[in-house]
Amino acid sequence: MTAYLLERAWLPSPDGGRFCDDVLVEVEDGRFTAVTPDADPPRAIPVRGLVVPGLANTHSHAFHRALRGRTQRERGTFWTWRDQMYDVAARLDPETYLALARATYREMAAAGITCVGEFHYLHHQPDGSPYADPNEMGQALVHAAREAGLRITLLDTVYLSSGFGAAPEGAQVRYSDGSVDAWIDRVSGLEARFGRTSATEKLGAAVHSVRAVPAADLEAVAAWVGDRPFHVHVSEQVAENDACHEAYGVTPTRLLADHGLLRPSTSLVHATHLTEDDVALIGGADAFASFCPTTERDLGDGIGPSRQLHDAGARLTLGSDSHAVIDPFEEMRALELDERLATRQRGHWSAPELLTAATIDGHASLGWDDAGSIAVGQRADLVVVDPASPRTAGAGRDEGAVVFAAAAEDVQRVMADGRWIVEEGQRYDIGLELEQAVARTWEEGR
Ligand SMILES: [Zn+2]
Repeated sequence: MTAYLLERAWLPSPDGGRFCDDVLVEVEDGRFTAVTPDADPPRAIPVRGLVVPGLANTHSHAFHRALRGRTQRERGTFWTWRDQMYDVAARLDPETYLALARATYREMAAAGITCVGEFHYLHHQPDGSPYADPNEMGQALVHAAREAGLRITLLDTVYLSSGFGAAPEGAQVRYSDGSVDAWIDRVSGLEARFGRTSATEKLGAAVHSVRAVPAADLEAVAAWVGDRPFHVHVSEQVAENDACHEAYGVTPTRLLADHGLLRPSTSLVHATHLTEDDVALIGGADAFASFCPTTERDLGDGIGPSRQLHDAGARLTLGSDSHAVIDPFEEMRALELDERLATRQRGHWSAPELLTAATIDGHASLGWDDAGSIAVGQRADLVVVDPASPRTAGAGRDEGAVVFAAAAEDVQRVMADGRWIVEEGQRYDIGLELEQAVARTWEEGR
């Protein structure tokens, strides 16, 4: 058992959470065994700063990290960005993917992220044929998370068509298993390897989008998914809604609901362009909505109805998606700030609500009900934020400072499952690892 005395930590409370001083936490086998505020223990390791629970990144495509700073230079739309993304997708192999994902996950860990939901669809070789081990790419991601020290929920993604009724083309042949039965075979083989009890790794499932999986196959996916975490890109683009209407006469959300895929373990990623009926369906299903505000900004997607979804009963979570930015503090405040732009009113989301989205609800959407809170029995994750940096100094030592002032660079140390995975002074090394992994992906400097 190890005892820490946290100078100031965010603990659960009936109204969501509050900061308490001098919190003694005892950690054993990766979990909190005691949490006592206002303690004065004779022997405990002091941890100075503002301490919050581990943050969950609910939507990641690790390989998109290679696009940062490169795709932002030109004009275009989501669809022209996608062409550049496919260029990276065509290049990677299991070895370069492992290196890029590990460096990306280390960047996440340094930003306070202790769990990632990896929405994984880059399954096969560049010509579309499976690797000798058909799950080699997925395994590379799991290894990358293990080496970076954070938990992963691998959301193995079914992707069968390029658009409504169109065959996969170009880089998309790497994504497709050819049929829903082949996807089930492959992902079942992967699950046998995970077991269902791994301490730091979980397997979930995803449908890339209603563009990429014919409606006739959705029920087979739903049957396999069961109570596993299930994620799906929904209504990120108006064009997707229009095409879905044309193909099926309903919205993407309604289509998923009609095929048994809107349930409490479902996360709708983006959920940007929704009808009132969609919002009511998602809230009524007690589902999650995974917003990715910095990516949605970067791609010019639009601003989704985050508060309406919350008020209808949905639980909001946050993801860095394309990794144009990896900063969960920026994602948290973006929910509120984007609502201000959309409504010209201030004060939609409170700081405790935003911290809840980034911690407890984020973890729950990835299947980790035992993480995201500094409480007895929970996984021992701690994120130490500097309250005296040039950004946070004078901002108040509370939720407002964490959510509206702090940035990823203010994270000093990070513990996941009882182990310190990030220590001060590691940023240089992480930058170097990223530099090398991205250069290798693009085959630069050779
Ligand atoms: Zn995505």
